[in-house]
Amino acid sequence: MQIILLGTGNPMPDPDRAGPATLVRVAGRDLLFDAGRGVLMRLAAAGSSPVGLAGVWLTHLHSDHTTDLNDVVTMRWAMGMVPLPLPVTGPPGTARFVERTLAMLADDIGYRLAHHDDLTWEPACPVTEVSDGVVFDDGELRISAAPTDHAPVRPTVGYRVEAEGRSVVIAGDTVPCVGLDRLCAGADVYVQTVVNRALIEAIPVPRLQDVLDYHSSVEDAADTAARAGVGTLVLTHLVPAPAPGTEQAWVTQAAARFAGEIVVGADLTSITV
Ligand SMILES: [Zn+2]
Repeated sequence: MQIILLGTGNPMPDPDRAGPATLVRVAGRDLLFDAGRGVLMRLAAAGSSPVGLAGVWLTHLHSDHTTDLNDVVTMRWAMGMVPLPLPVTGPPGTARFVERTLAMLADDIGYRLAHHDDLTWEPACPVTEVSDGVVFDDGELRISAAPTDHAPVRPTVGYRVEAEGRSVVIAGDTVPCVGLDRLCAGADVYVQTVVNRALIEAIPVPRLQDVLDYHSSVEDAADTAARAGVGTLVLTHLVPAPAPGTEQAWVTQAAARFAGEIVVGADLTSITV
């Protein structure tokens, strides 16, 4: 099982960090979790493409996690030699979100259908909405979801992927909660979006202070990892983005509370378990 951080940034535009997105490559499949800014550029760098995805799993509908879903939809359709519906799974509200995304793309879909004689079908995105429980299980690959807490964004979910005797949790944005603990129990890898509380508290901007109450801090993520007995804690969606060379300070913060391996994500960081 390979986990590739496609985007480790936060909503602030950053030349070095794309928006939140994580690729899990397992059992011969490429699974995309969230689709933030620049996801297709990073997906190409990871040796994948929108045509090669088994599907997209959204943790929640915040714009930084979904803004380039439309690009995935368009390019899977436009690059596909045959109709390739894109399965999209997400919390309740995802069907409406995908419907609106397709509506936004309606003009472009019309232009391309008019221009390419061999393109005779429209993009399709079958949606599965999930709150809790097993989302997918074919005996080889199992994906389950559990509710997380990112209020006032509701509902939100995290995912656990299990295959080849390995497991990874893609938590999305959440504070520590029962659902997250359940997902993480005994996982090999736990990928958590985090904020750095000490750094943010030093910046007196109310809109930045607001992010503290609905994300896991580095310490929160370390505590969740320790409680759940995970093997590796991966920090992503770093707020604020660490200045180059300061990543080790984030590791030190987490290591004070979690004895396992700690990875501070950069775009295209790859973890193999
Ligand atoms: Zn969010």
